Amino acid sequence: MKFKELGWNGFFLEIPEEMRLTTEGGNINSGYLKFEMENFIMEVRWDPFDPKKPKPLAEIADSFIKTAKKTYEKKAKKKIDLKIESVRSTSVSSHNAYFMVLKPETNMEEQVYIWNCDRDKRAILIHFISLLPREESENIIGHILSSLKCHLEGEFISWAALNLRFNTPRSFMLSERRIAVGKTYLTFDEQKFSTFTNRGRRLIIEYFSMANVIFEDTYKDVDSWFQKNYWKDLKKRCKDIALQTTEERKILRHNVVYKHGIKNSGLFTRRTTMCENLTWYCSKSNRIYSLTYMSYIGRPFFLKRKLDEETDKKIMQEFLSSFRCH
Ligand SMILES: [Zn+2]
Ligand SMILES: [Zn+2]
Repeated sequence: MKFKELGWNGFFLEIPEEMRLTTEGGNINSGYLKFEMENFIMEVRWDPFDPKKPKPLAEIADSFIKTAKKTYEKKAKKKIDLKIESVRSTSVSSHNAYFMVLKPETNMEEQVYIWNCDRDKRAILIHFISLLPREESENIIGHILSSLKCHLEGEFISWAALNLRFNTPRSFMLSERRIAVGKTYLTFDEQKFSTFTNRGRRLIIEYFSMANVIFEDTYKDVDSWFQKNYWKDLKKRCKDIALQTTEERKILRHNVVYKHGIKNSGLFTRRTTMCENLTWYCSKSNRIYSLTYMSYIGRPFFLKRKLDEETDKKIMQEFLSSFRCH
């Protein structure tokens, strides 16, 4: 069986190639992920873990069983006896983990792994549901778990999903998303408040699939595609965006339309926002990509405002050099 890499919200692992991301939510602190393929489901849940008040893993397991039982009873419309086949301790990504096997039906097996990642301060639960033959199921789960990393080194974390790869700073939170046929976007936000100063950054990664069909008239002229199909929508979502200059650049082996701008806004609290947008057509994936980066500083009008240009440059450099669009 072939496996592919998956990076999402600080997790990095390998999953079967045919597995698809079907549900996801939350951010690096607490969230949910679900992958599915025929006869096999994997769910990941994570919540903040407080090392001063750690919740016993057995307690998390108990509440999991209660919820699972309710779900099955609702489906079956009768009381059921959810069998716990075995419980033992194991190790996942160098952490001690609580492991149990549930048998809701004779041909179905559920495996649950629960552990605390003290490195990234998360309590993590992985749940597998399998209708596959035992050996096949064991092989897949074994591969996934041995490849899994729940804490990543460095200032940047790697994302790999939706046939995309890129690195973002750890402090960027996935705040909005839409993952759909035709159009997908991920928005990351970073906010820092201090007395009299509020700084923030935003990164939007967006792509449009089947571009040569849907944008037949403009996909070859990306700047006119941007003006006609994208700019209005982007302005609505990012109220302080301004893009004053346009030039063509060669990035990621593609001809990229690069736009840049600065906007000053506000009366009492003045805000300076720096904006960059990169848009291109990738023929290999037949997608139009549009990446938007914004960095702002807001302060009362009587104080000087200065953007941290060096950090912005570093973030964009790491982001763009890690970006893989096909
Ligand atoms: Zn960990
Ligand atoms: Zn490409």
